Amino acid sequence: MFWHPKGWTLWQQVEQYMRRVYQDNGYQEVKGPQILDQGLWEKTGHWDKYRENMFVTESEKRDYALKPMNCPGHVLIFKQGIKSYRDLPLRYGEFGQCHRNEPSGGLHGIMRVRGFTQDDGHIFCTEDQIQAECDAYTVLLQKVYKDFGFSEMIYKVATRPEARIGSDELWTKAENALIESLKKSGVEVVISPGDGAFYGPKIEYTLKDAIGRQWQCGTMQVDFNLAERLDAEFVDADGMRKRPVVLHRAIVGSLERFIGILIEQHAGAMPAWLAPVQAVVCNITDAQAEQVDKVAAQLRAAGLRVATDTRGEKITRKIAENAAQKIPYILVMGDREVEAGTIAVRARGATQGTVMPLAEAVALIQNAIAQKA
Ligand SMILES: [Zn+2]
Repeated sequence: MFWHPKGWTLWQQVEQYMRRVYQDNGYQEVKGPQILDQGLWEKTGHWDKYRENMFVTESEKRDYALKPMNCPGHVLIFKQGIKSYRDLPLRYGEFGQCHRNEPSGGLHGIMRVRGFTQDDGHIFCTEDQIQAECDAYTVLLQKVYKDFGFSEMIYKVATRPEARIGSDELWTKAENALIESLKKSGVEVVISPGDGAFYGPKIEYTLKDAIGRQWQCGTMQVDFNLAERLDAEFVDADGMRKRPVVLHRAIVGSLERFIGILIEQHAGAMPAWLAPVQAVVCNITDAQAEQVDKVAAQLRAAGLRVATDTRGEKITRKIAENAAQKIPYILVMGDREVEAGTIAVRARGATQGTVMPLAEAVALIQNAIAQKA
């Protein structure tokens, strides 16, 4: 993707919000390299089964691949030093950029790209901690989707397939944990029998957008296999070395795709907290041009993303054009406003402005941002 200034500003809002989600929910943010050695991908099984889909490169007679997923990197970080049961659950989060060599026919605008970035987290925990982790994750995911303006969701649990690893007892425990966490949050659960991966069951969280299309974004995948494959272990209370369970989890999934869904959901009219430009300040005649710049500087100092429109066009035209850009607030200054220290505030969709003191306008916009209205 080429991210232009406004698109990248929107991206930053999503990323910074999700970074707070990591910080406020016991995750430690990490960052791994983009290119990793062939040997690692042999251990994960990718070199054998997924090589067609990886971008491969070579240096000094060693082969490398651009990472198609972030999990192995997080396991390598986990494996630095000895981990104890006291360290668990250990949660790593990354804005992990992945590349997958998808056939060009499978690509679809911003929705499906070859290079994408996930809010990708991995939780290393014991079997007994799966339930609490799933509970917390489900509550968190519901809050995040609500903040982004989505209300309709579908919750699907994929259970044990015929061919699988791990004991039936372990599968029952994990499947129950997933189903229970959804039931506790009071939602309807759809079961897909036999649709789980061979290494564990999962929940798929599917969003419905404003026109009813469905998008699977969030996942909670239990994994009984990865720690074994990459030889990750912790020292338990009894002094024995054991394998942690790995929970793969993403909330928004691919940020590229999620931003595409956001644009569709809001039809481009982003809530103020996400809008690339939150307010535009316009003058009525040249006489107020200087004052417009001063006011814009004050608004920026108050933390708002502000543009100015001091073109020598009629104010009606400026309002129409800025409204077409779906900017949440159009602020207008004429001689009267300059004299009184006021400004006319026109919220998106309103047919006329309301004159108020500048400080009141700032508070109004800041409040809408804080409320994610
Ligand atoms: Zn993963």
